[in-house]
Amino acid sequence: MQTCLECGDKIIGRADKKFCNDGCRNTYNNKQNKDSSNRMRNVNNRLRKNHRILSELKFKDNKTQTTNEVLESKGFDFNFFTNFKVYKNGAEYRFIYNIGYKFIEENRLLVVKND
Ligand SMILES: [Zn+2]
Repeated sequence: MQTCLECGDKIIGRADKKFCNDGCRNTYNNKQNKDSSNRMRNVNNRLRKNHRILSELKFKDNKTQTTNEVLESKGFDFNFFTNFKVYKNGAEYRFIYNIGYKFIEENRLLVVKND
């Protein structure tokens, strides 16, 4: 016996029905959309925060160096970046919008700003 994905009531009728009525279908779909909006908002917030942390570093000629510890102490999350770029010389940069970084030592990063 099939049960409604929203309210859990038994569904009478076709075997492929997922909801007991349109109200349950709408409620369920609205919740799904809300969840995915929340997830997107959370990711966007992480990216914005990472970008702010990098942009607050002291740049000279659009370059600077820093360490993992400095960034992590400000709440930087290395899991979030907008794009990954490998240059011809093999250098791997992770970008957060217009600011990218690469590891030059295990714990040390070169940060570059494109603008
Ligand atoms: Zn229902």
